[in-house]
Amino acid sequence: MTRIAFIGLGNMGGGMAANQAEAQRAVMAFDLSKPALEKAQGAGCSAADSVAAAVKDAEVVITMLPAGPHVRQVYAEQILPKAPKTALLIDCSTIDVESARAVAAQAKAAGFRFADAPVSGGTAAAEAGTLAFMVGCDEADFAAVEEALKPMSRVTLRAGDHGAGQAAKICNNMVLGISMIGVCEALALAEKLGLDPVKFHEISSQSSGQCWSLTSYCPWPGPVPAAPSNRNYEGGFATAMMLKDLKLAQEAAAKSGAAAPLGAQAEGLYALFDRLGYGGKDFSAILNLFRGELT
Ligand code: NAD
Repeated sequence: MTRIAFIGLGNMGGGMAANQAEAQRAVMAFDLSKPALEKAQGAGCSAADSVAAAVKDAEVVITMLPAGPHVRQVYAEQILPKAPKTALLIDCSTIDVESARAVAAQAKAAGFRFADAPVSGGTAAAEAGTLAFMVGCDEADFAAVEEALKPMSRVTLRAGDHGAGQAAKICNNMVLGISMIGVCEALALAEKLGLDPVKFHEISSQSSGQCWSLTSYCPWPGPVPAAPSNRNYEGGFATAMMLKDLKLAQEAAAKSGAAAPLGAQAEGLYALFDRLGYGGKDFSAILNLFRGELT
């Protein structure tokens, strides 16, 4: 039975750890949140009382934490000093490329194999075990990474060396942030024009406006039952997380000299929505900003 340590059991990590347990892997789980830890126990994981305790006998360590500073701290203070050197370390959080490369370098210097493996797919895919993983790792380690991620994945692709997974992820999420705003603007306009937004969804989903934000994650309640729009935008992918990813993309664009003006606009709109108090709501709730229907 493969021994997995799973650190970070939030909206995404909770479902991912449950899928590892369901695949008959021995999962030692840890989160700072007690309710998250209890939920993981209910899904077949064992609860550890610290990161250090979770990783001490692990063959694979998986982290799913909010942002770069959390990952840097947990790796430097607990995982690298306490995990067995044979453990394969996989960070699935979305973080800045620099942090990913820094943690990879520290892990490598300490004798570990490490991969950055951020995900695409949202909470529904995390629960269903159908995430897309984009991996930055040494080529020789990829087969082991793919095998470790199997119970949680629909597809696992190697983007390149350390940091390349995070580069792919922030570019992908810049597309997502921009496309969600485009879909929301169009739905709000359809409503103003007296066109039933659900009918618009049906038409545009089969026309050239088709995209993931519209077809798989519709911000208007109804057409896509699994989307957070049907649960008052609770759970899902928080606005604050989308804002974090758009900031990462802008920082990377500034450093590399790339032009990303629509990404900058999307960052500004999500910053406004966050400042209005909606940072905890799913990012598709920005629809109501365009509708002028903030509650
Ligand atoms: P979340 O806030 O729901 O979960 C993060 C968890 O980490 C929380 O339960 C928190 O208590 C825990 N945590 C924080 N610091 C910790 C520490 N030091 N030790 C142990 N646990 C700690 O966030 P999420 O939505 O699950 O997202 C996690 C990551 O996945 C983020 O980087 C996010 O950008 C990325 N992501 C999220 C989605 C989504 O749809 N939610 C999709 C793709 C990628």
